[in-house]
Amino acid sequence: MVKSSNAGYPRIGEKREWKFLLEHLWANKIDETEFLEGTKALRLANLKKQQTAGVDLIPVADYSNYDHVLDTAAAFGVVPQRFGTFTSKLSLSDYYNIARGTKDAVAAEMTKWFNTNYHYIVPELDHVHFQLLDNRWLTYYKEAKAELGIDGKPVILGPVSFLKLSKVNDEYVRGELLDQLLAELLPLYVQIFKELATAGVKWVQLDEPTLATLADKKEIQLYKKVLEALHEAAPEVKILVQTYFAAVDYYQDIVNLPAAGFGLDFVHDHGENLKALQTNGFPEGKVLAAGIVDGRNIWRSDLAKKQELVAKIEQAVKSDQLWLQASNSLLHVPITVKNEAKLDPVIKGGLAFADEKIAEIVTLTKGANGVDITAELADSKNALDRLNQSEHRNNAKVKEAVQTILASKTERHSTYPQRVKAQGVLNLPVLPTTTIGSFPQSPEVRSQRKAWRKGDLSNEAYQEFLDKETKRWIKIQEDLDIDVLVHGEFERTDMVEYFGQKLKGFTTTQNGWVQSYGSRCVKPPLVFGDVQWTKPITVRDTVFAQKQTDRLVKGMLTSAVTVINWSFVRDDLPKNLVADQIGLALRHEVKALEDAGIKIIQVDEPALREGLPLKPRYRQEYLDNAVKAFKITTTGVKDETQIHTHMCYSDFEDILPAISALDADVISIESSRSKGESIKAFEQTKYDKQIGLGVYDIHSPRIPSVEEIEQNINRALKVIDVHQFWINPDCGLKTRKEAETIPALKNMVQARNNVRAKL
Ligand code: GLN
Ligand code: ZN
Repeated sequence: MVKSSNAGYPRIGEKREWKFLLEHLWANKIDETEFLEGTKALRLANLKKQQTAGVDLIPVADYSNYDHVLDTAAAFGVVPQRFGTFTSKLSLSDYYNIARGTKDAVAAEMTKWFNTNYHYIVPELDHVHFQLLDNRWLTYYKEAKAELGIDGKPVILGPVSFLKLSKVNDEYVRGELLDQLLAELLPLYVQIFKELATAGVKWVQLDEPTLATLADKKEIQLYKKVLEALHEAAPEVKILVQTYFAAVDYYQDIVNLPAAGFGLDFVHDHGENLKALQTNGFPEGKVLAAGIVDGRNIWRSDLAKKQELVAKIEQAVKSDQLWLQASNSLLHVPITVKNEAKLDPVIKGGLAFADEKIAEIVTLTKGANGVDITAELADSKNALDRLNQSEHRNNAKVKEAVQTILASKTERHSTYPQRVKAQGVLNLPVLPTTTIGSFPQSPEVRSQRKAWRKGDLSNEAYQEFLDKETKRWIKIQEDLDIDVLVHGEFERTDMVEYFGQKLKGFTTTQNGWVQSYGSRCVKPPLVFGDVQWTKPITVRDTVFAQKQTDRLVKGMLTSAVTVINWSFVRDDLPKNLVADQIGLALRHEVKALEDAGIKIIQVDEPALREGLPLKPRYRQEYLDNAVKAFKITTTGVKDETQIHTHMCYSDFEDILPAISALDADVISIESSRSKGESIKAFEQTKYDKQIGLGVYDIHSPRIPSVEEIEQNINRALKVIDVHQFWINPDCGLKTRKEAETIPALKNMVQARNNVRAKL
């Protein structure tokens, strides 16, 4: 018999109950007992849903009070010294201190979980001594068994991945240090497995996502060592090694590791896992947990296609060795479509969130076991046909326009050196100075927006408020003596959602929340249809700002690639084609801004880097597509119109050629947190266009001194020509307070003046 399995379930609850429990605890609105009762009820409800749905292998201990990497670290006593030393299980407040920081100790760093928008807390292994403070896996296993009679499958982050995701002295653990730390950590895993065995655990899901991103085949030995030790210590516990987000290279070596089963992603594998399986088969007696339903997107599966995939897999794997599941933990999708009352039924019919994906898995499993699923197959086909054949997805105008633009040459009219001459009309001084776009979204900005959304504030009154705020900030920028001004983005809660609400082909859900970090959830827009620009989006606000000043105001848009990376994108078209459609919609907006007299236009690319495929061999194609979409947006303008772009990361060395290929006249990039690293990139590669390496860090409330900013500028000017250099902060100032922003910008301008004076 084929079995159904789940690799992980979202924590947050249908209505984000989990988020509110955490935040109420932090705000002392509930006490620990209420928190523990509330989270337990939620956890059990989540398990119960999976039980009722008929999932054979239900994950336990995938629950977290904040983040599963932090849980793992805390269980092993991995606590940065600034939070104290611990010899017994951390209290909830100690645990949250690490994640959120205290008055005296900065929070632990967080970073993206592989190429997702989930952020984990980076374990700091400096001076640690591993000790098992909490076998939480056992606790949650026992809870599910006692409360619901579920014989769960504990999910535990494997030791090699855990270490590779950790840092020592600010560097990720690699090489010999990895070997050494693994030797210290492994006995604790052995202990956990022994305890799980005693409790009667049959299967453990050992998540080793780094097995799919190996730098070197030799590393497989580390995983082997782990599996041998665990098997020897607890032979009765079967281990399923779970990978996701990419295919495994060295398939043969990996599936022959000493484990009872392997979880492979058959959705984000570029077809490679399937090919490897078909070529090499699968070892007799081992389980294959086949991730066949997309665990990172929200569209309903075409069940007939999935059945074909299962049939192909079954040629290599016997049915009693096969589990069906989603490609990865369902942590990355919202909970249920059930509560979406406002969605167009055609769109809603094409959606599957976590609960619906679980139902798909169970159905496919039944089908694989010979149960009649004709009705379900027909349902899935009808719903998808309705969506695919709807006018949403068959906008002839858009399809034709994209064909036309792709057939034309999407290049600026002239080369960069010629454009620079034409842009002389902008009359910019040396070391032109600007900001990245947003200014503080003060409590007032937020409360006015809330009132407007609730209907308590009229459109006119809200617009009047926004205008007043823009006007005030134009004056502030003039007084500061900034050269290129911005309107401040007060009308935008989110730089992607804002455009999503205004372009055809996008929609938003009511409850489609996904955990981003800690209690923070995001509700990505849905790109469900052909994307079309119907009317100007930003022109009114930008022109309003321009009218308030004699200085130049920069228009502000979000690029197609960023929109795609921060949305749930239709999966009936390749992503690059969707990007072309969005790129084209934005091209109309760029043109409309130019026609309205705006001379400088910035197209933000903050998410370009994070969308980079995990495997180096797919990166060039991704970057080429990104460049193409960006150019569709930006090349329709006159030579004298200056195109800017912005990226918020400092590790861009490897993508510098792509950055240059965007052919933006000016790019601003984060730099000040990189301790000079980002400047090194320009020692090797000469950059031929204009660039603003952020001269101060906006992520901290600290006000940088004039000297420090001056140093940053001078350091950059050693490798970048003064006529190519712009002065700007690292990123937008939306999250900063006004009282931090103005003095910081004042110092930035002073530093610039000091440098200018010495030229
Ligand atoms: N223009 C945006 C802002 O300033 C850019 C944000 C970003 O880079 N993430 O807020
Ligand atoms: Zn940024």
